[in-house]
Amino acid sequence: MRHLVWFRTDLRVADNPALQAAMAEGDEVVALYVDCPQQWREHGNAPIQRDFVSRNLQQLARRLARCGVPLTLLECPRFDQVPALLADWTARQGIDALYANRDIGVNERRRDKAVQQALAIPCRVYNGDCVHPHGSVTTRGGDMFKVFTPFAKAWLARLRAQGYRLLPAPAEVAVPLAEPELSLSGERRDSGAWPAGEEAAAELLARFCATRLRGYGEQRDFPALEATSSLSPYLALGVLSPNQCLAAIEAELGQLPMSRGEAGFAWLNELIWREFYRHLLVVFPTLSMHRAFKPETEALQWSQDRTLFDAWCRGQTGYPIVDAAMRCLEQTGWMHNRLRMVVASFLTKDLHIDWRWGESWFLSRLIDGELAANNGGWQWAAGTGADAAPYFRVFNPATQSERFDAQGDFIRRWVPELAGVPATAIHAPHDWLARHRPGQGYPPPVVDHARARLHAIAMFDALKAQEAL
Ligand code: FAD
Repeated sequence: MRHLVWFRTDLRVADNPALQAAMAEGDEVVALYVDCPQQWREHGNAPIQRDFVSRNLQQLARRLARCGVPLTLLECPRFDQVPALLADWTARQGIDALYANRDIGVNERRRDKAVQQALAIPCRVYNGDCVHPHGSVTTRGGDMFKVFTPFAKAWLARLRAQGYRLLPAPAEVAVPLAEPELSLSGERRDSGAWPAGEEAAAELLARFCATRLRGYGEQRDFPALEATSSLSPYLALGVLSPNQCLAAIEAELGQLPMSRGEAGFAWLNELIWREFYRHLLVVFPTLSMHRAFKPETEALQWSQDRTLFDAWCRGQTGYPIVDAAMRCLEQTGWMHNRLRMVVASFLTKDLHIDWRWGESWFLSRLIDGELAANNGGWQWAAGTGADAAPYFRVFNPATQSERFDAQGDFIRRWVPELAGVPATAIHAPHDWLARHRPGQGYPPPVVDHARARLHAIAMFDALKAQEAL
C-alpha cells in the first residue's frame, strides 16, 4: 500500500497522528505540501510567516528524508484548484489512501471536503492541533461552551480522566533519502531570528520549561522581560504540538499542574485558551467570515477613520506604550500578549475603529498569525466576542504602561524619541517633552483617552438601547 501524508499546519514528524497512521498502515509513505500563493495573499497572512513556513518545510523535508519519506512541494494559485491537482497527482503516483490532520479555517474545511469528493481513494483525517479533539469538550447537553472558564474546567476534567497522547517520532531508516530543496515562491520577509524546525522548537520549549515555567505566572505580563515562551510561531504552524508542551511541563515539574496557584498552571491555562478559540472556530464558522461572535454587536457604529488607523499602524498615536508595541510588531513580526491587548483595546475603544481592521493588520504582520487566536483576541478586546470583557472595561494605556512597563524600558527600546525621558514621565510624556525638549518629534496624543472612553461606552449603551426597543 502506498500512502500519502498531506502536510498543512502540522509541519512536524513527532506527535503527528496522520503521519503515524500512514506509516503504521502502509508499506510506502510519501508526503506532500501544496502551496497556494494567491490564497495566501487573499487570507492576508504575513510575508514573515511565509518565510517561516518555507524554512520549516525545508526542515520537515530533512526530517522526513531521515525517515525514508520523500516530501514533494506542489503549487497552485488557490484552494479551489487543490482537488483537481490532488486527484491527478495521487492517480499518477498510485496512491492508495490520503492521510491528513484536520485544518480548521472555513476555507480550509471547504477545500478538504472538495478534495475528499474529488479523490477516488479513502481520505483519513486526524486531530493533530489540539490536546482534546474539536467537539470533545462540551456542556452536558453536548454544546460548545461560549465562555472560557467552564470550558477550561471541562478541558481539565477530560485531561484528568483521559490524559493526553504523545506519539513518538517515526523510526529513522538506515540510509536516508536525498533531501529535496524546497522553497516557497512569492513575497517573503526574513524570519531568520526564529530558528526553524521541530528540533529547534523542542529545544526552545525545553529551555523555557527549565528557566521560565515556574515564574511565568508572576512575570508573564511584563513585556520588557523575556518571560513568556515565544513559542506561538511554532504552535501556529504545527511545528510544535500542544501535547509536546504538556509533556515538557510534566517532565519539568514531575506532574501536570491542574489548578490555579500551582506552579506552571498559568502557562497550561494559556494553552487551554488556545484550544478554546480553536474549538470555537470549528463550531462557529462565521468567525472565519469576519462576523462578530455576538451578532447584536454587528450594529456598532465603528469609525472608518483612515488617518487614525494609519497613526496606530505606524506607532504614531502619541501614546508611548501603544507606539512601542506597534513599532515592535512592524520590525519583528511579533508582539507580547499584554501589548496585543493594550493596542487592540486602544484601536477599538479609544479610536473606535472596527476590530476587523486591526485583526487584518495583525495577520499581515505577525509571524504567529493564526485565525482562531487572532480573531478571539480581537473580539475579546472589542467586546464583540465569546467571553468578551464587559463593554465598560476600557484599558487605560497610561495605567497599563505604569503597571507593566514601570521603568519604561520597553518603551525606550522601541521609541527612540523618548530615550532620555525619565520613568516618572515616560507613560504620558508630553508635558515633560514640552518643558525639556520643545519641538521634539514625538507626536501629541491623537485622542483624549478620558473622552474616547466615554464615547466607547456610549456606543455600547446605544446598542443596548436599540436592543431594548
Ligand atoms: P505564552 O505566553 O508562552 O503562551 C503559550 C502559548 O499559548 C502561545 O504560544 C499560544 O499558542 C497560546 N496562547 C497564549 N495566550 C493565548 C491567547 N490569549 N489566546 C490563544 N492562545 C494563546 N496568538 C497567536 O498564536 N496568533 C495570533 O494571531 C494571535 N493574535 C492575538 C491578537 C490579540 C488581539 C490578542 C489579545 C492575542 C492574540 N494571540 C495570538 C494570543 C497571544 O497574544 C499569543 O499567543 C502570545 O502572545 C504568544 O506569545 P508566547 O508564545 O510567548 O505565549
